[in-house]
Amino acid sequence: MNDSETRLTADVCVMGAGPVGGSLACMLAQSGVRTVVIDRAPLRPMEHPAFDGRAYAISAGSRRLLDASGLWAKLPERAQPIQEIRVSDGRVGRPASRLFLHFDHRELGPDTGPFGWMVEARGLRIALNALLPTLPALTVMAPAEATVERRADGATVRIAGGPAIDCRLAIAAEGRNSPLREQAGIPVTRLPYGQTGMTFAISHEHPHHGIAVEHFLPAGPFALLPMAPSADALVGGAPNVSAIVWTERTPAAERMMALDDARFEREAARRLGDHLGKIKLVGRRWSYPLSAMLAHRYTDTRLALAGDAAHGIHPIAGQGLNLGFRDAIVLGDLIVEAVRAGQDPGGAALLARYQRARRPDNLLMLGMTDGLDRLFSSDNRLLRLARDVGIAAVHRTPPLKRLFMRQAMGVRA
Ligand SMILES: Cc1cc2nc3c(=O)[nH]c(=O)nc-3n(C[C@H](O)[C@H](O)[C@H](O)COP(=O)(O)OP(=O)(O)OC[C@H]3O[C@@H](n4cnc5c(N)ncnc54)[C@H](O)[C@@H]3O)c2cc1C
Repeated sequence: MNDSETRLTADVCVMGAGPVGGSLACMLAQSGVRTVVIDRAPLRPMEHPAFDGRAYAISAGSRRLLDASGLWAKLPERAQPIQEIRVSDGRVGRPASRLFLHFDHRELGPDTGPFGWMVEARGLRIALNALLPTLPALTVMAPAEATVERRADGATVRIAGGPAIDCRLAIAAEGRNSPLREQAGIPVTRLPYGQTGMTFAISHEHPHHGIAVEHFLPAGPFALLPMAPSADALVGGAPNVSAIVWTERTPAAERMMALDDARFEREAARRLGDHLGKIKLVGRRWSYPLSAMLAHRYTDTRLALAGDAAHGIHPIAGQGLNLGFRDAIVLGDLIVEAVRAGQDPGGAALLARYQRARRPDNLLMLGMTDGLDRLFSSDNRLLRLARDVGIAAVHRTPPLKRLFMRQAMGVRA
């Protein structure tokens, strides 16, 4: 018998071992669900010292998935808690306007934890790579090319030059250009923003005190996210480090990305203000064209979409990955419940419950982030007035303020 004739059996096959697919696979396996996770790309070792400047804001709600999957305990460095969020409506060279919003998680009660944590993207990858091969209920195949055949009673995943896996459910966590979504003929609506997000890290003179700052500038938002001091050689043991997500209209972003480091730092500093003192770029700069995307359905026969395969939103609120983590929590809980009860983890009723639970929530976040971007990325005087009135109203209305804070934490009001 050659390898291609070998047949394996699993409850679930997850396509894509990115942050969403990888953590969902770990969470399922930790709960005893027989899971196979397949990635087209090799799981590159990330333990080498190159600090690359990319980071995720992990909301308090998403932390639950990282705890349940065992990934939180494997993070190589301390995650930085986000204690406060400051939102201001500014201009370049004059970032903080008179009107701003200030959110402090302690306003929600003495026992409420931080809004979330900043985690280096590389740290999450290291944790995934460390955990994935160790779980008895999990089989990892990467790099591997796979085809999926779905039928009413189950799915078969065929690995090129490898085994065929019979399972009850295939999960597409393959990112934005999900081949499984396309194969299922699920249409998507795309909304290009004509903006590009530049992300990088800076070291700075003064401490950030765990405060995240969002400056709404006319060309797009400029977010400053506090990071834990990194032991990394490239950061040189700098005690004060922050990540930046800076959005510009695409031609302007291209000009910025072409600048040398010193001029790029000066442009960043003009948008940042001077509250952190002198800044210095650490690691490299990354840029991504921004667009929103929503799949019209999250499910098909024996198929569920999760993470960026199902949706993409503007990074204005740093919630893209958090939505994917929430998909993974809901889908993971439904699958674990079904397997424990001896029921079908890929049946139509379960898939319908998943879609009902997640699609409206993601659509709402897509609408909110899109609206925020349009409202703030405008120099129209009437819109400026409207948003200043809005900011003042949120400031004066504690229940509204608390609602915003809970939304940022990814927890229900
Ligand atoms: C500028 C910017 C800033 C952002 N900042 C934040 C932030 O602060 N907080 C936040 O929550 N989110 C943020 N996001 C969003 C976040 O990066 C994504 O939501 C997240 O990476 C999605 O994870 P995923 O696992 O769904 O997909 P991906 O990260 O795209 O992973 C997909 C995986 O599937 C694999 N794959 C692809 N095709 C196949 C195939 N055919 N078969 C098998 N495997 C396959 C890939 O190799 C990859 O490993 C930001 C995004 C941008 C652009």
